[in-house]
Amino acid sequence: MHELSLATEMVRTVKDVLRKEGASEVVSISLSIGALSGVEREPLEFCFPIAAEGTPLAGARLVIEEVPVAVRCGACEKDSHPEYPLIECVECGSSNVEIMAGRDFVIKSLEVR
Ligand SMILES: [Zn+2]
Repeated sequence: MHELSLATEMVRTVKDVLRKEGASEVVSISLSIGALSGVEREPLEFCFPIAAEGTPLAGARLVIEEVPVAVRCGACEKDSHPEYPLIECVECGSSNVEIMAGRDFVIKSLEVR
């Protein structure tokens, strides 16, 4: 499953941060998931405890922010939020758009102790 390898990668990244910070335990992890990132919230929430088991991340809470798609239109120059998977300008229907947000999966912050 894609989300399991992602969760495993996330655990590895966070463990590196813990080592650098000298922290021993993670309380919560704030993530943002873009609508176009290909990451699904529910499978990630399911896979995370499996990947975190036996690590300092076990029991950490995931705080997930879902980021909608934002586009800027090349025809009417307006910004809008089309519903994925329809990537076009909501204002004028043009598909000549530049994606401004919603592409990334990011670890935003960690709460450690
Ligand atoms: Zn437009």
